[in-house]
Amino acid sequence: TKVIDRLRPGKTVFSVEFFPPKTDEEERQLWRAIRELEPLDPAYVSVTYGAGGSSRDRTVRTTGRIASDTTLVAMAHLTGVNHSIAELRHVIGSYAAEGIQNVLAIRGDPPGDPMGEWIPHPEGITYADELVRLVRECGDFCVGVAAFPHMHPRSPDLESDTKHMVNKLRAGADFSVAQMFLEPEHFLRLRDRLAQHGCHQPLLPGIMPITTPKVLGMTTQLSNMTIPDEVSAVLDPLRDDPAGFREAGLEITTRLCEKLIAEGVPALHFYSLNRSKATREVLANLGLIDGVLKSAA
Ligand code: FAD
Repeated sequence: TKVIDRLRPGKTVFSVEFFPPKTDEEERQLWRAIRELEPLDPAYVSVTYGAGGSSRDRTVRTTGRIASDTTLVAMAHLTGVNHSIAELRHVIGSYAAEGIQNVLAIRGDPPGDPMGEWIPHPEGITYADELVRLVRECGDFCVGVAAFPHMHPRSPDLESDTKHMVNKLRAGADFSVAQMFLEPEHFLRLRDRLAQHGCHQPLLPGIMPITTPKVLGMTTQLSNMTIPDEVSAVLDPLRDDPAGFREAGLEITTRLCEKLIAEGVPALHFYSLNRSKATREVLANLGLIDGVLKSAA
């Protein structure tokens, strides 16, 4: 099944992102989350792609196991970091062999320092649009790309950011998934900019359920945004009150999702950190899954 066929016009569904587990304990935790989410019928679940060889093998294995052992639609991420085109073809072939039909094609960052100098592999790709074309060439995949509501941190201005995003979609992407943000306006403006260029592929907002000060910090690091004043005003006084912070953080996450649903987004894409509880709580707050959730909470 392809991700694009799981998105239904006029209805907001949800999807969940995982990372490949490194230890046995992480593996157990991931599979607990997968089994808790499975009955809620996410549109798809995806697995990120790391920088090193063993983590890359784990992406192939984990996504393959989700595709074969669960009812879930699986998507594997792929980056161009330190790969020749021949190696990229090989990984894409492994995805196909595992029964994976969906690939998120991403350029990636230099290992170690995301803002360090990007040096392409001499026989590799320089930008994500090349990877989109390569994945398409290698088989009948549904291809997604990354989008940035606060523009990509390397983009000099919004104009060039939009131009390259449009190129990536025109290279053959079926949909895009946005980096985290806390103010819907930034996401909606990105959607409008793409539509102005004739790009109407589904754009999924990326949602990080805010559960701890550390998670909130991660959202700002990855997304090129600063925390909005309204959010700081609520959460800063709760930094030493874990339960209060979590409750208020999930409330803020829920309100954000409500606005996005009202704007007709095709799906809410949750960055789950390999846990399911916060995602399930937000979905329950939104009334997207009430009956099922109560027993699993
Ligand atoms: P690109 O689209 O290639 O863009 C990178 C920069 O280059 C942008 O500033 C763009 O405007 C510019 N650019 C593009 N084309 C051109 C051109 N022709 N000429 C000049 N400039 C150009 N990282 C991982 O390592 N593993 C993951 O699994 C992973 N998953 C992610 C999932 C999502 C949903 C998101 C949003 C990000 C993810 N990332 C992941 C992070 C990602 O690797 C970084 O954000 C990376 O810096 C950008 O990748 P990209 O595909 O957007 O790059």
